[in-house]
Amino acid sequence: MTFIYEFGQHKNKSIEQVAVTDFPYLLWSDSNVRRLSDDFKKHLKEVRFKLNNFVPDVKCGACKENIPEHISIGMNLPYGISVSTQYLYCDEKSCKSSALTYEKAQLYHLAFSTLESLPYSPKWIREDVSEVLLAAIGFRGRKTQAALEALLEHVELKKPMPQF
Ligand SMILES: [Zn+2]
Repeated sequence: MTFIYEFGQHKNKSIEQVAVTDFPYLLWSDSNVRRLSDDFKKHLKEVRFKLNNFVPDVKCGACKENIPEHISIGMNLPYGISVSTQYLYCDEKSCKSSALTYEKAQLYHLAFSTLESLPYSPKWIREDVSEVLLAAIGFRGRKTQAALEALLEHVELKKPMPQF
């Protein structure tokens, strides 16, 4: 089933569409918008869980072997950020240190929840980081509702999804 926001800054967009462009809005609307139905909130929590617990479909950018757990984001604000599917790293110390040769880079958890904790996060940063996170899941192509639903239906998870 497709759940559409019927009001607010993301009016007429589905939960999935908002999730992959403005992930922090999900958490915000879950706790601040009273008009959301129980089914809507349940689906919202499931989408958040999946995007925070997916098994990446790419390898560590340093050892080219392990599954990455961290995303390197280099902030040089207000000019730009440096983020890429090549800058994803596993938990090995040597791999993590190769990520930090660029002085403004910091490692974050490779999950959409990182978007909720970025210190300064205008729209274009959320979008750039979201693109890399989506690529890390293995998503290619246009972000249609059908494609996003299929992605989340088949995504491999690190742990079983709880009952929301
Ligand atoms: Zn590695």
